[in-house]
Amino acid sequence: MTRIDLHCHSTASDGTLTPAELVSAAVEAGLDVMAITDHDTTGGWEEAAAARPAGLTLVRGAELSCRWHGVEPAIPLHLLAYLFDPAEPRLAADLARLRSDREQRAEKIVGRLRADGVDISWPEVSGYAAGGSIGRPHIAQALIRAGLVRTTDEAFASRWLGARYFVPKADLDVFEAVRAVREAGGVTVFAHPNATVRGRIVPDKLIVDLAREGLFGLEADHEDHTPEQRAHVRKLAGELGLVVTGSSDFHGTHKTVRLGAFTTELAAYGKIVAAATGVPVLG
Ligand SMILES: [Zn+2]
Ligand SMILES: [Zn+2]
Repeated sequence: MTRIDLHCHSTASDGTLTPAELVSAAVEAGLDVMAITDHDTTGGWEEAAAARPAGLTLVRGAELSCRWHGVEPAIPLHLLAYLFDPAEPRLAADLARLRSDREQRAEKIVGRLRADGVDISWPEVSGYAAGGSIGRPHIAQALIRAGLVRTTDEAFASRWLGARYFVPKADLDVFEAVRAVREAGGVTVFAHPNATVRGRIVPDKLIVDLAREGLFGLEADHEDHTPEQRAHVRKLAGELGLVVTGSSDFHGTHKTVRLGAFTTELAAYGKIVAAATGVPVLG
C-alpha cells in the first residue's frame, strides 16, 4: 500500500522539524509520499528536496492563509496549494505580502504582551522562527519558556493569543487564491473545511462556487474533523467531482498528531499530480 500524507509543516513555518528532518521522519513513519506545506511560504522546498531520501516522493506545496468575504466578519480559511510554480509573479507577490504581514503581526503581539509586563522579547520570538515564516506558535514557545503556560494549546486560549492578545492577519481572498494557484500551474485543496473546533466554517455553497472556480479537492480526513464532518466533506466532494484527501497536518512537537496519522488514497493523489503543471513531484 502506498502511504501518502499531503499536509506537513517544517521550521520554514511553525513546525518543529527542519525540512531535512521532516523528510527523514516521513520515511521513518513509513510514508511513500509526503507534501511539505508550510504556511504562506515555499522557503522549505530547497532543503527538503536536497535531503529527500531515496524511496520518498516529495510533493512541494504550501498552505495559504485565505479569507472568504461573503459574510461579515469575513471567515478565515486555509487552502493547500500543490506543485505550483513559485516564480509565477502574481502568486509570488501574494506570498511575499502574507509573510511580511505575519512578521508585523507577530511583532505587534509581542509588543502588547511586553506592554503588560510579560517577560518575552522580539529577538527571542524571531529566533524561534529561525528565518522561517513566523507564527503564533513561536510566541507560544516564548510564553512556555517564561513559565506562563505549559502548552501551545494553553497559549492559544482566550486569555492569551486566542483573544486578549489577538491581532488579525492579512490573507488572500479565497477566490483570488484559487485563481492565482491555477495560473501558477498548481492544484488547490481546501484544508480542514468543516473543522468547527477552529472557529466558524464556511457554508457548502461557497465550496460549490469554489469548485466552479477550479478548486480541485477537499481535505476530509483530518484530526480536527469529527467522523460526521469527515463523512459530510466526502459526500460533498463526491457531488462536486472533487478529490478527497486525508493528511496529518503534522507540526512536530507543536501538536500531538503523528506523521501519516491520516493519509490520502493513491487515486486521489494521482489526479492531483496529473492536473498540476507548475513543478514536478520529486522522486
Ligand atoms: Zn490549516
Ligand atoms: Zn496546516
